[in-house]
Amino acid sequence: MSTAIINAENLTRRFGDTIAVNSLDLEVRSGEVFGFLGHNGAGKTTTVRLFNGVLEPHEGSMRVLGLDPISDGPALRARSGVLTESASLDNRLTARDNLLIYADLFGVSRDKVTSRVAELLELFELSQHADARVATYSTGMRQRLALARTLLHDPEILFLDEPTAGLDPVAARQVDELIASLSQEKGRTVFLCTHNLVEAQKLCDRVAVLEHGRLVAQGTPVELARQYVRRLDLQIETAPEHLDLALNILSDASSLIRGLPRRTNGSLTLTITGRESIPDLLTLLVNQGVRVYRLAANEPSLEDVYFALHGEKEKDQ
Ligand code: ATP
Repeated sequence: MSTAIINAENLTRRFGDTIAVNSLDLEVRSGEVFGFLGHNGAGKTTTVRLFNGVLEPHEGSMRVLGLDPISDGPALRARSGVLTESASLDNRLTARDNLLIYADLFGVSRDKVTSRVAELLELFELSQHADARVATYSTGMRQRLALARTLLHDPEILFLDEPTAGLDPVAARQVDELIASLSQEKGRTVFLCTHNLVEAQKLCDRVAVLEHGRLVAQGTPVELARQYVRRLDLQIETAPEHLDLALNILSDASSLIRGLPRRTNGSLTLTITGRESIPDLLTLLVNQGVRVYRLAANEPSLEDVYFALHGEKEKDQ
């Protein structure tokens, strides 16, 4: 079991009457990509600001890399990187100069700075444009440069607030691949705030869902899907001559399936309330002589979890 890099207990922060973060208990483990999901105004950015020592909590306690973000702020900032929603780059300067200035601020040693900047420009595929002014950059290039900037001092943990917001699919995928490689190849811990559930599904080892400042779920995407989504789509392929028989049997199995089974391209598609029904369904078919060649379940996605948690109708009903 990996060690905890972030620990929060009962963390609470108010703005006037608004409780932006409400009794938050959270543990982020070393080396994981931890997704922090929630609607607009759920409290994600406030949480990141608390973990960075920018805001003080009104209640509760927290540790990041074993440090107190408020009293150990400088020590923590030397070991962490933050990409905010509106990363400010200097448009008048080149990408290289933007990085050189920040390298100086982050205290990267002078003998390493040139090679570190060149290495990051290369990693983020910006070398060819390193000496162009940032004003000429596309949104995707700017975001890659902003991400490169957060890595100058080789931080152990990265806080990324909506890193792909406003990017087209190609640029977003590039940023996602970089985030994945930071975790998988460099062992960095990533705390990722995102609205993008497909991105979270792809990148995150574990996620937490925040609603009006409160944590409503926490776990791996698969754990959350099994816990919260009470439906599972199945495809069943039988011997062709048994398809009608299977359709009749399943149409009568209303205690196991939701709605009616459908015939699609020589197989059957149906919705059940959870994986627990699968053995019973299979037994029912086999006991009545149906030869089952294939049974495949479409695991619910984080998007299904999100809608289930928010009490909305599941998206394709
Ligand atoms: P988004 O996804 O829109 O960025 P978020 O989940 O990051 O939202 P926060 O920005 O943390 O949410 O805001 C949480 C709540 O706290 C909101 O109701 C917001 O209006 C309020 N809030 C945040 N910062 C301040 C502030 N400086 N002053 C007053 N209220 C604030």
